Amino acid sequence: MAGRLLHEIEGEVTELLSKLIRINTSNPPGNEVKAAEFLADELGKEGFECEILESESGRGSIITRISGSGGKPSLLLLSHLDVVPAVAGEWSVPPFSGLVKDGFVWGRGAVDCKNLVAAEVMVMKLLKRNNIRLKGDLIFAATADEEKGGRYGVGWLVKNHLDKIKAEYVINEGGGFSIPIGGRHVFTVQTSEKGVMWLKVRARGKPGHGSIPGAADNAVLRMAKVAHVLGDYRSRIRVTPTVRMFIEGLAKERGPTWQLLSRLLMNPLLADKILDEMAKSDLASAELLRAMLRNTIAPTVFHGGIKENIIPSECEAVFDCRVLPGEDRKSLLNEIRNVLVKARVELEKLEFSFLQAEEPSESPMNTPLYRYIENVLQSFEPNCRVVPFMMTGGTDSRFLRRVGCVCYGFCPLKVDVPLPEFLSMAHGIDERISIKNLVFSVSVLYELVKGFLA
Ligand SMILES: [Zn+2]
Repeated sequence: MAGRLLHEIEGEVTELLSKLIRINTSNPPGNEVKAAEFLADELGKEGFECEILESESGRGSIITRISGSGGKPSLLLLSHLDVVPAVAGEWSVPPFSGLVKDGFVWGRGAVDCKNLVAAEVMVMKLLKRNNIRLKGDLIFAATADEEKGGRYGVGWLVKNHLDKIKAEYVINEGGGFSIPIGGRHVFTVQTSEKGVMWLKVRARGKPGHGSIPGAADNAVLRMAKVAHVLGDYRSRIRVTPTVRMFIEGLAKERGPTWQLLSRLLMNPLLADKILDEMAKSDLASAELLRAMLRNTIAPTVFHGGIKENIIPSECEAVFDCRVLPGEDRKSLLNEIRNVLVKARVELEKLEFSFLQAEEPSESPMNTPLYRYIENVLQSFEPNCRVVPFMMTGGTDSRFLRRVGCVCYGFCPLKVDVPLPEFLSMAHGIDERISIKNLVFSVSVLYELVKGFLA
């Protein structure tokens, strides 16, 4: 089969995305219900009956479905309606204008992930319009609150309305973009994500007069040491199967020198030396790889002291820790304690508590849907390579993986701006997507859904 680009929907999907961007769903507060109502209207024109469910006033998620006749698996097309805030002064266009300029749609959400919302809506419309009969159930859900942890979106839906969204397979954000190498495309499929552990540490000491520091026990100094030790600490390198396949896939495309380098990179004793070298010319890629190869600990908040002349007896700090699949918060906390003991920090003067913790999540690669994704991509881009991808951050997929769904981050697009710029657009400035890519996303997803469920 040869994939066909659906040029005829170019205008329609461009307008859909542009309008979606103009509905400001910055989270907080979210107010996603406005976007949900807009989509209910759009899908309604095609004959869909949609349900808008609100976890709290204004926090709406929209769901609809096409029931299959049976005999094929079920699939959920998932995306989120909220976006992170944008500071207009930093952008070269107004971030909520949905401006169409130079072949791109500009604005907050253009790649995270109103583009996926628009593409998935377009796929639903096309299936209905073209009278495609499906055997498997197809569900569409665009949800609230992904950007602040999903508790008012997918987290809430899983708890309260699981039957409405549960499917054997889920297509969500988090992957699907290609990494251009030597004129060819290496497409990513997000199959796993690291866990999040926000660890609060409280250091205690003994108060005293600032003029006689030796008589007191300064909690700020203790915490400064903790932050320094943990900030500098490099947890051991561990190559998970996903990351191994990712690195090997890219290296094969880049040729023999890279294949050798990639083998060295996956050697725990040499990895950091290779990455330090790589960072001199490409900091972003080197540090992304480093974060894919180990647990990370980053001090992010530091509070201590109440007055200029009082030696503080208390200090608090927060550490943003990210955990590789196969480990959990307990094992990382143990590791942290051991590191601090080795650095001669008195543990009995520290208290640890979790502000938030999400375990890592992973879906298998040896599934019919993964293979189907490979086939469909090949039909659009002959000889392209497909690699699994682990995100260092998180998406709503973790909620659904926990209840047994196989989730893939797959919003197919061919990166057509410099890769570092593309990677920094989500949550960054001048977020934009090319109209070409919008058409590509719709075309690939349409082919995928139609072929996999029919
Ligand atoms: Zn997102």
